[in-house]
Amino acid sequence: VKDKMKGVVKYAAGPMNVELREVDIPKLGPRDVLIAVRACTVDMTDVDIWRWKPPMGTPITREEAPWMRKAWVKIPVILGAEIAGEVTNVGAQVKRVRIGDRVVVKYGLEPCGECPQCKLGRYDLCEAVVQVGRMTDGGFAEYVKVPEAAAIRFPDNLTFEEAAPTEMVVTAFHSFWMTFMRPGSVVVIMGPGVVGLFATQLAKELGARKVILTGTEGDEKRLELGKKLGADVIVNVTKESLFDIVMNETNDIGADLVMDFTGNPSAINKAFDIVSVRGTIHCTGNPRTGIRGEVTIPWIAINAKEIRITGSKVWRATTDEWLRVLNLMGQGRIKTSPLLGNKYPLEKWQEAFEARESKRELLPIITPEL
Ligand SMILES: [Zn+2]
Repeated sequence: VKDKMKGVVKYAAGPMNVELREVDIPKLGPRDVLIAVRACTVDMTDVDIWRWKPPMGTPITREEAPWMRKAWVKIPVILGAEIAGEVTNVGAQVKRVRIGDRVVVKYGLEPCGECPQCKLGRYDLCEAVVQVGRMTDGGFAEYVKVPEAAAIRFPDNLTFEEAAPTEMVVTAFHSFWMTFMRPGSVVVIMGPGVVGLFATQLAKELGARKVILTGTEGDEKRLELGKKLGADVIVNVTKESLFDIVMNETNDIGADLVMDFTGNPSAINKAFDIVSVRGTIHCTGNPRTGIRGEVTIPWIAINAKEIRITGSKVWRATTDEWLRVLNLMGQGRIKTSPLLGNKYPLEKWQEAFEARESKRELLPIITPEL
């Protein structure tokens, strides 16, 4: 029996320090399952860990970031978080998952069990959820080991490639989940990246009456794709006035919901201008302005317009949300296939990372079998 496998390992802190290595196939605990990875899509966090972009390398202190309870990344670690594969082995106490099941891996594998929220039994509020491909080995490998609870069966009519980026759909879904969006809303989606394009589809699915998708110079192709996926209006903010367009589209009311998937400080600032009175601004993107992500905002707009501000993190999305997303994907109401890129074998992981980083591809796929 084979006991070694190939995996893409971040082996030391600092820029680069990633290579394909031969490592042990993980040993299963009684409640673990072993998954043969069939497809794992590359996300920007993989690229950021490879490049060691801030805040990856920033030391975390309680004073600076009191919400952070663990390091970003455990070193060494096999990268890869958007995983679809086939169960090939199960621990002795595994009951629900069977060998041969086609599963995706829930990104927040399990609550930490030790933080103040976990101690209160509020596991879905855990402050340090274990994230696959960051705090424990991920899917750029032939096999990945996860707790049974994190292996979620996906609908038969989806391919492994289509199912792999479920985490990105859940990221968009959990954003809406936290906003309590009302039907008939005008929604501005900032950023036509992977999550923004899934949010565009979801906004329509959830009953938005108008979706305005924004991007900057260089995003032209992605904006066009957004239009095909349901955006009613696309705006290139480098060339056009977002404020004028939103006001024009809403009879000078502004948008009910403005969602940021860019983390760009100027986009977040602009959100306060274009949101309506008693509207909602939702923050999913991470500003790259240091460990605290400080941005300048027009504070007075919050009280003058009675604005609500919400935030979300995908690792806190529950299994319930994952199942709802997979159901929508299985019904073809949310499509991942228009975003999929090329397939790369493990040996060409760096090409796949570069395709993602350069925006040539939205979702390059690493496929161990190739
Ligand atoms: Zn916890």
